Amino acid sequence: MVMGDLVVEVDVAVVGGGPGGYSAAFRCAELGLETVVVDSGKRLGGACLWEGCIPSKALLHVAALIEDAERARDLGVDFGEPRVALDPLRKWKDERVVGRLARGLAALAKTRGVEVIGGRAVFESSRELRVEGEEPQKVRFKHAIVATGSAPAALPGLALASDRVMDSTAALELADIPERLLVIGGGYIGLELGQVYAALGSAVTLVEMTDGLLPGVDRALVQPLARRCEKLFDKIRLGTKVTSLAEKGSAIEARFDGGDDGVFDRVLVAVGRRPASAGLGLENTRVNPDARSFITVDDRCRTADRAIYAVGDVTGEPMLAHRAMRQGKVAAEVIGGRPSAFDNVVVPAVVFTDPEVAWCGLTEFEAARAGRAVRVAKREWAAAGRALTLGRTDGLTKLIADPDSGRVLGVGIVGPGAGELIAEGALAVEAALTVEDLAATIHTHPTLSETLMEAAESLLRQGG
Ligand code: FAD
Ligand code: NAD
Repeated sequence: MVMGDLVVEVDVAVVGGGPGGYSAAFRCAELGLETVVVDSGKRLGGACLWEGCIPSKALLHVAALIEDAERARDLGVDFGEPRVALDPLRKWKDERVVGRLARGLAALAKTRGVEVIGGRAVFESSRELRVEGEEPQKVRFKHAIVATGSAPAALPGLALASDRVMDSTAALELADIPERLLVIGGGYIGLELGQVYAALGSAVTLVEMTDGLLPGVDRALVQPLARRCEKLFDKIRLGTKVTSLAEKGSAIEARFDGGDDGVFDRVLVAVGRRPASAGLGLENTRVNPDARSFITVDDRCRTADRAIYAVGDVTGEPMLAHRAMRQGKVAAEVIGGRPSAFDNVVVPAVVFTDPEVAWCGLTEFEAARAGRAVRVAKREWAAAGRALTLGRTDGLTKLIADPDSGRVLGVGIVGPGAGELIAEGALAVEAALTVEDLAATIHTHPTLSETLMEAAESLLRQGG
């Protein structure tokens, strides 16, 4: 076929089939808009399903099983040394977790009449896209939604073309369990995947350039995680940068700016992600990416081009799948003429490590920086019944409230299950609940959720 032979005309062309893109496309279809998704891989799911949230959480589940089996020894139950067979583990992750969800998304697209076109989309104008690749064609649209996501950032000045230097996508493939793994970056990915490899048996050295893990996150929440990582990892080097990486036989030699260089079997680079906005032909539209290449949008996910919307990682921080999904629905509803806006008060965040760290809304640090008076309650899990029955007292629940109105402004939780518990915090902040509402709500006993109620009760006591 000659490129350009085929021209498809639709109401909405969604570029990128990740959580932002497919949420937008499904909502558009529900609203009666004829919609196509153009995705380079001709599949829905994006980074989240194929190389992000889902495979990493599957592997973290395996790591948690191994760690729980180890902890069980203290309770008098010994399962023996774990033996990990990589083939069945990879097969379970790829086929029964990722594959199953992928088939579900494909089926949903079919039932909603959303066609998925394979190929790379390039804007030729504010009305037309060129699709390059195996199915070259043009897509003429009334509206387009850019949902091209993000890609791993490279280590500046240290590019080394070696299979042994992995980004998160390669690390999730689990080619082997390296004896010695160097993790560069102590953020979400470095900690989650560092813990996976440590549980599977690698000696992990983690290097973080700032002076703490998870920079920007409340230190009281990070502390229990840092303590756990100190046990799990071989070494944690804070305030350190890698100055060179060089292949030495079948290993990688790394030099650090503080000396004490090391030799590793593999290296995982996890130093952030960059928006995927280059090569999209945006110069042929009125969309104007900012200095960091993010596409600026308003609260209706509109860009500077009235026909083009953008959602998800390509629009900036926080680069999280649930934010992308919400934005996708908002963009679809605005295009469909509904009075919708991305006016959420909080985007909750979870680091799915052991223990999990989760937070939403205002932090104590942000309040202090803004000179805003807040009341803060901290409920340690050491005396929480459910935490004791789980043998997990390494948790903390933190509540930030407005001193005058009593409104809950922020919640932070560290401990096993924090990622589930934070949903109550997000609801409390989003729905403008007060500390009194939380304290007066009956929480089931014995559960970790009681720590939220108890933190609220302690705030009420502070208030007299
Ligand atoms: P993406 O999911 O990146 O999808 C973009 C899609 O667009 C891709 O399929 C891409 O191929 C396609 N594309 C790009 N350019 C073009 C083009 N020109 N033409 C056609 N198609 C194109 N977030 C969480 O909330 N929770 C987690 O637990 C979590 N874990 C993560 C773990 C890892 C290891 C990583 C890397 C990320 C994780 N994230 C997590 C982040 C999450 O994956 C992203 O926030 C989310 O995928 C963003 O969705 P999106 O729709 O914006 O883009
Ligand atoms: P990140 O921003 O979370 O962490 C990067 C870390 O690398 C930071 O601590 C930074 O200080 C450090 N760093 C940067 N340059 C460095 C250098 N040269 N040497 C040493 N350290 C360096 O980024 P990430 O871990 O790559 O994850 C990318 C994004 O993906 C996250 O920000 C998040 O939005 C998303 N993500 C989310 C989840 C989740 O929701 N559970 C999980 C994984 C990824």
